Order: sequence, then C-alpha cells, then structure tokens
Amino acid sequence: MKSIIYVEPSEGKVDPNVKKIVARLRKIPAERRGLIKGITLSHNFKNREEELRELFDELVAVEVPEEYLYNTEVMANLLTDLLEADSPALLFLVFSHLGMELAPTAGMRLGVPTVTGCTDFNIEDGTAEVRRLVYGSKLTISLSVDISRGGVFSIQRGSLKETGAAGTAGAVREASLSALPWDKKWAARKSKVLGLVAEEGGIPEQEDITKAPLLVSVGRGVGGPDNIPLIRTLTDCLKGTLSCSRPVVDNNWLPHHHQVGTSGKTVSPTIYLALGISGQGNHVAGMDTSRIIIAVNKDPGAPIFKIAHYGVVDDLFQIVPELIKQTEVGS
Ligand SMILES: Cc1cc2nc3c(=O)[nH]c(=O)nc-3n(C[C@H](O)[C@H](O)[C@H](O)COP(=O)(O)OP(=O)(O)OC[C@H]3O[C@@H](n4cnc5c(N)ncnc54)[C@H](O)[C@@H]3O)c2cc1C
Repeated sequence: MKSIIYVEPSEGKVDPNVKKIVARLRKIPAERRGLIKGITLSHNFKNREEELRELFDELVAVEVPEEYLYNTEVMANLLTDLLEADSPALLFLVFSHLGMELAPTAGMRLGVPTVTGCTDFNIEDGTAEVRRLVYGSKLTISLSVDISRGGVFSIQRGSLKETGAAGTAGAVREASLSALPWDKKWAARKSKVLGLVAEEGGIPEQEDITKAPLLVSVGRGVGGPDNIPLIRTLTDCLKGTLSCSRPVVDNNWLPHHHQVGTSGKTVSPTIYLALGISGQGNHVAGMDTSRIIIAVNKDPGAPIFKIAHYGVVDDLFQIVPELIKQTEVGS
C-alpha cells in the first residue's frame, strides 16, 4: 500500500505542512506505509522540482490548465483517477481551505474511510490510528480506521511537530518523476472558478503575522472593539505585530489577516503574548511552535496555560496598562 500526498499548487515553496506529513510517514516502517508518492500540478513545478524530488520516492506532476487550478471538482477527479491505479492507497492532504473540501469529495468518490482535520496519525497493520478534535475543539478523540480498502486523511496545519529535515536527513533520494499530460476527463462539469481575488489593498508588510518575531495576540477576553486600541498601544510599545483568535475576527473587531489558527494563519514567532485567549485546539494548532509563549488569562484553568512557558493569572486590563507603563519607563 502506498502513501500518497497531494501537494497543492502554490507560487512559493512547498508547504511546510506537506514536509511534516512526509517526515511523519518516514518514521513509520516502510512495510506499513509503503512508498511515499507525491502528486503535484505542473503549475510552477520547475520552481519546486528539486525540493519535491528530494521529498518523495515517486512523484507525479500533472499539467493542469490554469483555468482549472484551485478547482476542487477537477482535483477530486484527478486524484481519484490517479489513486485507482495504486489502489488500495492512503491519501494525505493538508487541511487547508482546498483540503477541507477536497478530502471528503475524494474519499466519497473512492468509497474509502475518510477522516478530516487529523491532529496526529500513525499506521499500524491494517489500521490507521488517528486523532482529531471534536465539539468545537474541546475534546480530542482517537480513531482506529480500517484501511484495508485505503483511506483519505487531511491533516491540521501546524499539528505535526516533525521537521522536514529530520524526516529526510541522510537519505539521498531522487524521486522517479512521471509527467502526465492533461486529460479532458478530469475537466470540471459542475463548477467554475471565476478567479482568485487578493484581499483588497493587500496585507501591509508591518501586519504580516507570519513574519513577525513578536506577536501580541488578543482573544475574546478583550471584551469588544473599544479595547483594541489599548492592545495596539502595547503592541507598538513592544515593537510587535497584532494578531488575534477567531472570535475577534468573527465579531469584526479585527480583519481576518490577523487571525491565528487552523482557519487563519500558522505562526511561529520568537515571542507570542496571548491576552484573553483560552487556548482551544484550533487556535493552538496555529501557534504552538512559537519559541516563547506568554499567556495572560483570568481563568487559572484555561488550556493556554498547558502550553505557555510563562503564565499570568490576572485581568488583562490590569496587566496591559502596567506593561505599557513599564515599556515607556524603559525606553
Ligand atoms: C473549524 C473551526 C476552525 C476554527 N479556526 C480557528 C482559528 O483559526 N483560530 C482560532 O483562534 N479559533 C478557531 N476556531 C475557534 C476555536 O475553537 C475557539 O472557539 C477560539 O479559539 C476561542 O477563542 P478565544 O480564546 O479568543 O475565546 P474564548 O474561548 O471565549 O476565551 C476567552 C478567554 O479570555 C479569558 N478572559 C476573559 N476576560 C478576560 C480578562 N479581562 N483578562 C484576562 N482573560 C480574560 C477567559 O478566561 C477565556 O479563557 C475554530 C473553530 C472551528 C470549529
């Protein structure tokens, strides 16, 4: 049985989450996970060819016409067709915006067990042992999935701790590459992607939370939009960048590009200061690789304290003005 990983089209380098999936698979004995095969689209393939060849045992690059890139109907047609040749196989995807839609569609077409948003996985003899969050990330469940007919698994971004390098170190590997031409049978019949629209005005460089070394991150505990300026003042005093949890975005207190988490961005700053954030799984999956996590929360039982390196159990409205005062004194 092969382990097959779908690599999404992208302008830049290979998604680090794809590398983590491969690294995890490499830790599993080869007789259980089989050869590791990558499926990618030829869009910008040359930019990424070397990186991809080093990662996989086998690589398939498919020439998809530009109009069909990012169309999940097309990707599902293509993937299920290619997988049938290797059936039974295990398909792994990143639980990205595309992967969220693609995994269940591919799983249904293949008629195999499908688990979305996995936070961990292992392959045993005849089963995949997977974990995922349920009930709004309040509980984690473990599932033992019969993979005798294959399976589809989408993996939460940021949930695997492997580094790509560790998983592939020492292996001099060059994947055999098959470049497949486009086949009309993969074309979309029901859906059409009209275009990709970049966020209006783009994201200002100084608000790019994925590049910031210090994030001041605010959660629902901030209480409302009137209190955001206070957090901005602290962020400026610390020369940091403002980020937030999802309720802050859902309530329109900050725009979406500030959001950390599974449906936001994955960040890994040197310092992550979490203010009034409870630390639910969907948030933590996007920030738990931060070097130093400092949490301020008035509830001593808040899950964020399980991953914080430093914790303050107090009202953020006591702590933030004091921090601002201290930084102003220090500067
Ligand atoms: C499919 C899916 C995707 C999701 N994606 C994301 C995502 O990308 N990012 C994300 O963040 N969430 C995401 N969520 C939501 C997630 O499950 C949590 O609901 C969310 O992270 C909670 O945000 P929070 O910690 O700000 O709010 P809450 O859980 O409500 O926590 C607020 C915290 O503030 C504390 N507090 C209140 N007042 C104060 C005060 N004055 N001083 C100090 N502390 C105070 C409280 O004790 C509490 O711990 C997703 C959920 C689903 C189902």
